[in-house]
Amino acid sequence: MQSFEYYTSLANSMDFRTKCWIDGQFVSAKSGETFENINPSTGKKLCDVARGNSNDIDAAVNAARTAYEDGRWSEKTPSERKEVILNLARLIRENVSEMALLDTLDMGKPISETVNVDAPGSAFFFQWHAEAADKIYDEIAPTGGRDIAMIRRVPLGVIGAVVPWNFPLDMATWKLAPALVTGNSVVLKPAEQSPLSALRLAELAKEAGLPDGVFNVVPGFGEDAGQALGRHMDVDCLVFTGSTAVGKLFQKYAGESNMKQVWLETGGKSPNIIFPDADLEKAADMAAFGIFFNQGEVCSANSRLLVHSSIKDEMVGKLRDRAEMIKQGDPLDPATTMGAMVDVNHAKKVERFLNVGKLEAKLIIGGDRFSINGSDAFIQPTIFSDVPEDATIARDEIFGPVLAIQTFDTENEAIEMANKSVYGLAASVWTSDLARAMDLSDKLHVGTVSVNTVDALSAMTPFGGMKQSGFGRDLSVHSFEKYTALKTIWVKY
Ligand code: NAP
Ligand code: MG
Repeated sequence: MQSFEYYTSLANSMDFRTKCWIDGQFVSAKSGETFENINPSTGKKLCDVARGNSNDIDAAVNAARTAYEDGRWSEKTPSERKEVILNLARLIRENVSEMALLDTLDMGKPISETVNVDAPGSAFFFQWHAEAADKIYDEIAPTGGRDIAMIRRVPLGVIGAVVPWNFPLDMATWKLAPALVTGNSVVLKPAEQSPLSALRLAELAKEAGLPDGVFNVVPGFGEDAGQALGRHMDVDCLVFTGSTAVGKLFQKYAGESNMKQVWLETGGKSPNIIFPDADLEKAADMAAFGIFFNQGEVCSANSRLLVHSSIKDEMVGKLRDRAEMIKQGDPLDPATTMGAMVDVNHAKKVERFLNVGKLEAKLIIGGDRFSINGSDAFIQPTIFSDVPEDATIARDEIFGPVLAIQTFDTENEAIEMANKSVYGLAASVWTSDLARAMDLSDKLHVGTVSVNTVDALSAMTPFGGMKQSGFGRDLSVHSFEKYTALKTIWVKY
């Protein structure tokens, strides 16, 4: 890690990419319109960014289609594509401070996290998917006779990707890496709060050897650029990470346009269940991480803590101690462990939940929005206990550093409470009883169960939800399934 001074001076001398990236070059939005991009930790403008709309989406999809059809990328061998994407991973590593800073400036998260987690994570995810590219075999069906029935995995064509602001570079990477490695062309619409790392990534991809037109970025607003991509008649597949409400819109857009495939990674309200036989110190450390990491702006945040009633007071005390240790401040300071919310609007939304929570439950610590360096976008790490099952703060995704603690007495009660959610992204279970851990893992309706940890995740394992947390999986070789179709080629001889 470099120093506070280093990141501050780099931030002040940064040259932002602010236009649409279409067919291998930066171009203004056709309308000439721009929107202000604000740094939430100062409240000050970083830059004006091109406000793409349906015309720019059209140009980007056309470039992506042309590139796909002429085979400049789609007909390269998997090994050739691997080399280019490995180059991209290397370039991200070579520019790690810059890539990290772009996300920190755009959405207010601590530089220590973007330097150590987000930016190297993106490089690693690209590398991992690239390395897998030429190690996956097609199939031949056991027909027998004078027949060869090949079952081949082929790219889909043009992929539209719409991503959120909470991990701008990584959410884009999770979509891009498998989409590109399998030979597709991509049009990416980043979140309006955080377009900068995607635009720089596009430039690095060109430097890495990705042909023009294969990867395009159109910054802009969801209602226009995002919707235009979702409704485009020449987009074969739309992959989305974001809220459940907007995810449902993409299903509607697809139904009302060309029936494109839609894959959704959406919201969550993940339960973290702690039994008395667990390592309670470790459970408390990780429970705090599970809700406070990234200002709680994590889809799989462990926002519901279900503790056995016999250890409730002890766990509430431990969690309060952990919350007190969090250092909020300038995200460019490597000592800062919690930054600003992504913008004042979102901070105000979280604040409304805090006010509701104060009526519904017992406030243990935090509970307020406050200012640092003239920015009103900071929220105190907050814990509520004695949260009734039907409370708003126990049900709704807050997407902030707000923990709701509830108690249970029996295993069945814990399972019932955990599953009582429209979401099903992730869950954690803390116990030293292996049989109990496996039993719960079977019964929890979620995409990932972490046992004696929280938010277990790697490039090797699929990530995604059940119920209204969405469907389809990012990461692992299974992510390739979203970006390819099975094609049967039957030969008689
Ligand atoms: P969001 O409001 O759903 O926005 C996500 C993306 O959709 C943004 O690019 C947004 O553009 C675009 N969008 C918004 N309205 C649209 C519309 N009417 N038509 C088409 N596109 C539209 O979500 P967010 O607030 O950025 O992110 C927070 C949410 O993401 C949370 O619910 C969180 O759980 C979820 N999330 C899920 C995962 C997962 O893997 N399951 C991971 C991370 C986050 P604008 O920026 O212009 O609004
Ligand atoms: Mg911003």
